[in-house]
Amino acid sequence: MAKSSQDISRFGAKSTIAEEDQSSTSIVLGRKALDFPLKVKAPSGDKARVISIVNQKGGVGKTTTTINLGASLAELGRRVLLIDFDSQASMTSGLGINQVAIQEQYGSIWHLLNDLNEDVRGTILKTSVPGMDFIRGHYDLAGADSRFASEIAKELMLRKILAPIINEYDDILIDCSPSLGTLTVNALTASDGVIIPMECEFFAVLGLDLVTKTIEKIVAAINPHLEVYGILATMFDRKTAHSREVLALIDGQFPKLLLDTIIPRTVRFSESTVKGMPITTFASSSAAANSYRRLARELISRGGAN
Ligand code: ADP
Ligand code: MG
Repeated sequence: MAKSSQDISRFGAKSTIAEEDQSSTSIVLGRKALDFPLKVKAPSGDKARVISIVNQKGGVGKTTTTINLGASLAELGRRVLLIDFDSQASMTSGLGINQVAIQEQYGSIWHLLNDLNEDVRGTILKTSVPGMDFIRGHYDLAGADSRFASEIAKELMLRKILAPIINEYDDILIDCSPSLGTLTVNALTASDGVIIPMECEFFAVLGLDLVTKTIEKIVAAINPHLEVYGILATMFDRKTAHSREVLALIDGQFPKLLLDTIIPRTVRFSESTVKGMPITTFASSSAAANSYRRLARELISRGGAN
């Protein structure tokens, strides 16, 4: 019996897609290639573009995308602020902050949520990437839903926290928790746009409806100008037909939303996390680093990132 292409690919046969071409939806799906010029326009406007990286599923590449998109935007001369809005604080550790330091409430975004009169500037930390700052997370963010259940205007807290520094950055990226609760609602309320990272696995597609419905609710109720900047296919494995099938499926369901840039699956991401640095520093010339640089240019050219 003839093996299907998926069976063959599982047994290690070579893919028909060249490595450098795996980072583009249009090429993988056999369409005309898109080009995002290396030279980008200067940031416009005084106000930072606030972008939430959202998906209620864990392990899809939200934190990795926040760090590496941020680093790529900073390389393009943008002033970038990252916010770790997840109780696992994995972005905070991914940026090289140790566990003991994370346990300290003071100086974290949790501390700011609990004291809205505290000056946000006192919590802003420098990363190893020039031009990229961050505000660290805290494990107690896990209790946000119950802590703020009866708070008045609880969805406006993050917007209020960011207001004093909104003119001091070009792009503010929020690494959201894998839930659609109080924290994510706060992030979406404070945001101009959303990027939805999606692992190239069939079950991940099923969760997309829930994210897009939540965003529609926020638009209708609180933040009418919130836009979805795009769905980002992550962990794309060019050796499997499955990754390509999933990509075609998302493209069919959300044709305008699927970003052209694809992030390849590679262990270099886990390795760079262990080292506490973005892949753009850890493996600067790798295809994976270049995929995030291309994402930054795509977003700028689409009018997403500033
Ligand atoms: P999330 O924030 O959505 O939970 P993460 O960004 O933490 O997801 O990624 C989950 C795990 O997968 C991490 O160990 C990370 O290093 C790894 N990872 C992320 N993106 C990729 C990728 N493109 N290829 C391989 N591993 C990845
Ligand atoms: Mg995460």
